[in-house]
Amino acid sequence: GALTLPRKVVVLGSTGSIGLSTLSLFEESGVPVEILALTAGRNVERLIQQAVRWRPQVAVIEDETKLARLKDGLAGTGVRAAAGATAVAEAAAMGADWVMSAIVGAAGLAPTVAAARTGAVIALANKESLVCAGPALLGIAKAAGGSVIPVDSEHSAIFQVLQPACADKVARLILTASGGPFRTWEKAAMAVATPEQAIAHPNWSMGAKISVDSATMMNKGLEMIEASYLFGTPEDRVDVVIHPQSVIHSLVEYADGSTLAQLGPPDMRSPIACAFAWPDRLPWPAPRLDLAAYGQLTFESPDLDRFPSIGIAREALRLAGAAPAAMNAANEVAVAAFLDRRIGFLDIAASVAGTLERMNSLGSLAAADNDDAVDNAMMIDASARRIAAEVVAQKHRRL
Ligand code: NAD
Ligand code: MG
Repeated sequence: GALTLPRKVVVLGSTGSIGLSTLSLFEESGVPVEILALTAGRNVERLIQQAVRWRPQVAVIEDETKLARLKDGLAGTGVRAAAGATAVAEAAAMGADWVMSAIVGAAGLAPTVAAARTGAVIALANKESLVCAGPALLGIAKAAGGSVIPVDSEHSAIFQVLQPACADKVARLILTASGGPFRTWEKAAMAVATPEQAIAHPNWSMGAKISVDSATMMNKGLEMIEASYLFGTPEDRVDVVIHPQSVIHSLVEYADGSTLAQLGPPDMRSPIACAFAWPDRLPWPAPRLDLAAYGQLTFESPDLDRFPSIGIAREALRLAGAAPAAMNAANEVAVAAFLDRRIGFLDIAASVAGTLERMNSLGSLAAADNDDAVDNAMMIDASARRIAAEVVAQKHRRL
């Protein structure tokens, strides 16, 4: 039948890996879209190129020191230039049918919430916003008559195979994980791993932060929390299996023992296309899955000793309250410190655990019960960042 596709779209984080994949999908599918806004953090040159090509109403750079360059680069195009975090959130709320939420980190929370309040369909790549304030964000989207469709490949897989009619008969969600670049490494080698080695992901080309998260497997930890919130599945029913080929994107096991999986080549444009056209399907020249070329698909259990982040995230999900937001903030601080060569690779998870312990002993992991759950999450994020910076500084001195 004829597709009823979104028309007016906003791409938050357009200059990143997911942003590029989104614009590439628009290009490759030839789908007619009117881009209301493109937003970026600091990469003003790429934002200018994209704005010249796509002619949004507005192009927003979060870094205000780059506004002059943005204005200059857009002169004569008719595209308005804006800067700052408030302008990013305003762009998110311009009244698009569909908003790609692809900012990295908790910085994506406020714009994603702003978009959710408009009742738009949110294509959610920014998993950190769900980890920080999942129930609140989903509640806001629902109340505004909108929806949140996951873009993270594992969650897109589950979303595609989870039958709403038997959602209460789900026995387990099984998230697949590539295992990252250090899947087979000894702990001693991991201890001295460099940012370059951590960022070299075997199957996916992604932003630096999520690449490091894949290497520590905190990415899978964040995804367990994301899955629990998105699908209403308790922590003890969310499992992880290592699958190095990244062909099976995740599975749903039902109470009758039947397990459904979604497969595809590792290309983020497929889950983006799914989130764009759902419940329809967007025809485009997608890379196709050639199972015979793979020959075999393999699986193994994650090593919780070399990858303690999985256990840390499980505990944060069990604790609930402020723990997931605090864990996420501490992880962002620790990953930045690792990328900056201030701490070692194994110090990332140790810093996150140390921050959570400290906050727990201060009694600051209990659920705050102010009216505004999103404000609470932002306050927890800020205080966890302060404590994580101290924990990281201690590890730095010891290096
Ligand atoms: P990236 O670093 O490549 O891109 C991030 C984007 O956010 C860029 O456009 C950047 O300019 C913008 N940005 C950064 N800081 C900002 C700020 N403070 N304010 C406003 N904008 C800011 O990251 P990515 O790999 O595209 O990932 C984006 C999100 O999608 C992350 O949450 C990640 O976990 C998730 N995700 C990515 C992939 C992937 O394949 N890359 C897969 C699944 C989920
Ligand atoms: Mg994923």
